[in-house]
Amino acid sequence: MERRAIVIVGSGPAGTATALALHRLDPELANDVLLLDKAQHPRPKVCAGGVIPAGRQWMEEHGVAFDMPHVTVHRARARTARATIDYGEPNFCYVVRRNELDASLAAACRQRGFELRENEAVRSLRRENGGVVIETERGSIFTPLVIGADGSGSVVRRQLVDAPGAAQEHIARAAMCDVPIAASRWDGFAARRYDFDFSDVGDGLRGYRWSFPCLIDGAPHANVGVYSLSPGGTRIKEALAAELAVHGDVKARHVAFPIRWYRRGKTRVGAANALLAGDAAGADPLMGEGISLALEYGSMAAQAAATVVRSGDYSAAAYQRAVDESWLGIKLGRLHATARWFYGPYWRLCFALPERSVRLRTLGLRWYNGIDDWDRRSVFDAVRALMRPDFAAPRLDSRLS
Ligand SMILES: Cc1cc2nc3c(=O)[nH]c(=O)nc-3n(C[C@H](O)[C@H](O)[C@H](O)COP(=O)(O)OP(=O)(O)OC[C@H]3O[C@@H](n4cnc5c(N)ncnc54)[C@H](O)[C@@H]3O)c2cc1C
Repeated sequence: MERRAIVIVGSGPAGTATALALHRLDPELANDVLLLDKAQHPRPKVCAGGVIPAGRQWMEEHGVAFDMPHVTVHRARARTARATIDYGEPNFCYVVRRNELDASLAAACRQRGFELRENEAVRSLRRENGGVVIETERGSIFTPLVIGADGSGSVVRRQLVDAPGAAQEHIARAAMCDVPIAASRWDGFAARRYDFDFSDVGDGLRGYRWSFPCLIDGAPHANVGVYSLSPGGTRIKEALAAELAVHGDVKARHVAFPIRWYRRGKTRVGAANALLAGDAAGADPLMGEGISLALEYGSMAAQAAATVVRSGDYSAAAYQRAVDESWLGIKLGRLHATARWFYGPYWRLCFALPERSVRLRTLGLRWYNGIDDWDRRSVFDAVRALMRPDFAAPRLDSRLS
């Protein structure tokens, strides 16, 4: 049977990031790593493709040029039940197409010498002889360590990490479609702006709708979608129709996908011989964002993998602790708390705070987007910044109407 020191299942952002980070940590070990994917790059992925600056920075620090086609967003518009807030910050977000982003990451792995086998789905996994036997559609592979980076429906999580009979909790839903700008009356593409609409929260949607500018084969488009925590997903179709109406009388076929989110202290991110990264572990419950988090998970999974292979202790306890206690685990925990407040019974009060305070929304948006490392700073730093009369104003503008 084929044997590998580490097998990474999935070559999306989490799997490729794990490989790239491992290559930086231990190039020799990286020689004995196999990446498997059921699809072939460039492959479609249901995703709006918004990459926050921290995600781009991660790629550049790991030697992956951010040179795929993208739209740089400098403005955000948020609608709530009572207000419209315009916010400007240079290079606030980059909107890519996932087939192109993921193909660049996969190509970078191959350039570093990794073997990436495409069109090879993992069918099942079982523990045997101190490791894991992976059955793929082409054969069997033995490894002492498998990294599940296979997305929200992760077979690695279901078969090696979840307790038997565990319910599928912590799932959100998102649906999206693409509208050519030539057929839309939306002005966001020209303004390099992305729009979020939270005005359905009071009607039971536990999320928001969006319109993002993007390029598909060089042609300007809007990516239009809806995100909602479950329950609340039943309103997704209606909310999508409402967001499409912003673009005019347009018809577009939508695609939907589940997003598994992380809950600090509850979500298991590993078990003996198995570590999870990216959506397989859990994404952001507030907005369903996961690309930059998947890259960060990759760094943590690589660090843990290098340590367990060196020590021979293939339990996942240290990785679980590392994720839960890291800035990433803390940020995800805060996002969960924020989602409960903003999409819960006190939503009016929660939205009223950023509606009224420019400083609060500037800090919130910088924290969310990881600008100036705000997502890695302490609550104490945040409170101090809010008290300072000279706390940085938004760099372009912030208006309320
Ligand atoms: C509608 C929608 C919009 C979104 N918009 C955004 C956004 O704007 N910004 C953002 O940051 N995030 C967004 N997300 C979330 C984002 O798409 C995910 O968080 C991100 O893709 C996670 O990366 P990943 O590598 O963990 O998983 P994935 O990108 O899902 O990659 C998993 C990989 O594993 C492979 N795989 C799966 N099963 C197997 C198997 N059995 N065997 C072998 N290979 C397998 C798949 O082919 C795939 O290549 C959105 C999600 C949805 C659904």
